[in-house]
Amino acid sequence: MSEQVLIVGAGPVGLTMATELRRYGVPVRIIEKTTQRTDQSRALFLWSRTLELLDRLGAGEALVAAGRKVEAVNILSGSKRIGRVDFADIESAHPYALMLPQAETERVLEENLAAHGVKVERGTELVTFTNGDNAVSATLRRADGTEETLTAPWLIGCDGGGSFVRKTLGLSSTGPAQQSDWLIADVHLAGFDFPPTELASFWHEDGFLAIFTLAPGRHRVIADLRHAQGVAPLEADLDLVQYILHKRGPGGVIASAPSWLSTFRIHERNVTNYRAGRVFLAGDAAHVHNPVGAQGMNMGIHDAVNLAWKLALVRQGVANAEALLESYNVERHAVAEHLVAEIGRASAISLIKIPSAQFARNLLGNIFFGLAPARRAVAETLSEVSLGYRDSPLNAEEDHALPGPGPGERLPPQPGQPPLGMGDSPRFALFGAPGPGVDALQVKYAGLLEPDLRPPVSPRCLWLVRPDGYVAAEVLEEDVHQLDDYLYRYIGGDATTAASL
Ligand SMILES: Cc1cc2nc3c(=O)[nH]c(=O)nc-3n(C[C@H](O)[C@H](O)[C@H](O)COP(=O)(O)OP(=O)(O)OC[C@H]3O[C@@H](n4cnc5c(N)ncnc54)[C@H](O)[C@@H]3O)c2cc1C
Repeated sequence: MSEQVLIVGAGPVGLTMATELRRYGVPVRIIEKTTQRTDQSRALFLWSRTLELLDRLGAGEALVAAGRKVEAVNILSGSKRIGRVDFADIESAHPYALMLPQAETERVLEENLAAHGVKVERGTELVTFTNGDNAVSATLRRADGTEETLTAPWLIGCDGGGSFVRKTLGLSSTGPAQQSDWLIADVHLAGFDFPPTELASFWHEDGFLAIFTLAPGRHRVIADLRHAQGVAPLEADLDLVQYILHKRGPGGVIASAPSWLSTFRIHERNVTNYRAGRVFLAGDAAHVHNPVGAQGMNMGIHDAVNLAWKLALVRQGVANAEALLESYNVERHAVAEHLVAEIGRASAISLIKIPSAQFARNLLGNIFFGLAPARRAVAETLSEVSLGYRDSPLNAEEDHALPGPGPGERLPPQPGQPPLGMGDSPRFALFGAPGPGVDALQVKYAGLLEPDLRPPVSPRCLWLVRPDGYVAAEVLEEDVHQLDDYLYRYIGGDATTAASL
């Protein structure tokens, strides 16, 4: 059997997956059925948490250099501003949204992967696979028609919304399939006077409308078509763009000079299980969201980061492999469910139809967005820094009397500290003051813990933080033995050998 993990699909999720695994020393092959990278730019935003995670891969700097920082999002009803959410207060190394066309994000990620010594095998399609107990057997077909059959320890389907891997596994989705139609238009807008560093999102009974400045004089219009279908053809044209702008926008905005006009259909889904034995799903292959909130690609990148450190530890031979791998589905499935619910709630508010209810909504919206904590909560949700794994089976028991983030929550970046999860092996970070118990723990779990203790987050407490930056356990200094229990019980002790695979 080959040692190489087979990654299917070189979109943003497959590229992240390949880089994370490779830098943790896991051999990979990444195949992509198309022969060239797409120049279509569906996703436009990388959120704060995604940038933090991509910093660990060494891609953050190049992405930030290529993109444009967006400072705030405005919520409007017609020309009236209901609220403005500023990203500056987010506790992150990246307190902004980064606007970068998806094609550029993929370019940077692919170059970064190449710097880690892995080349995408383009023009190579997965055509069949068998999910065995000890290995996955897969057949690949190249553009010239030649075929190759291989075995791999794991197969990861990062093959997008129409996922061949998901369909072959026959995995079903939770909840009824939600279908919606959308318009996307890159155009020149006259009469749209928003600062280019701010986004505009409009509440309207007909559906969602958002306008972003791509470059001086160029704008992206994205709109939900569910209610326009009866009055306008589904074919995207400038008249449809103008009609929607006129009905839902701030007024007086004229669209011209389209460079991209398209309609597309979304089938929202969240697969019931992101894992079937030795096969995993990540990104759009596992979950598809509607574009409100612009979270889809970001969520997929987080899937990749979540799975990669676990696979790398299992390959190193930690004893608790099954529990570690199962936690991928539990954690990421729950986050996708949560997101769908949040988007559903936001959409319901924005679509209120009765004029008196709209009046009340706008008034309450003004009050809500007038409150700093409320604005901050919205910013933290959008930027994904408040997402976490509160119900993860990998969380130690929480002691509510202790300060700061508890098990499953993201530990915000600590001043002067490098990002968590860097390096060539996934390691837990230990935050706290030195002492005999801590020293002994570091010696006992030298293969699992970072070699250097990090400074305390708050006095008298120890934090054990996972390689992806989420708190695993928090205890008082005198209870350091509980961290020993944690590492033994949840992870399975020191990583020693790959023989258990
Ligand atoms: C209009 C629009 C706007 C969006 N805006 C945003 C946004 O602002 N923010 C955001 O976060 N998300 C956004 N999204 C969602 C985002 O584009 C997707 O979530 C993202 O592309 C998913 O990445 P992925 O790698 O999972 O899948 P994909 O990008 O679809 O990549 C899958 C890859 O797998 C390849 N493949 C498929 N089958 C095989 C096979 N059998 N063998 C080999 N290769 C195969 C495909 O060719 C493809 O390259 C938007 C989506 C749309 C449609």
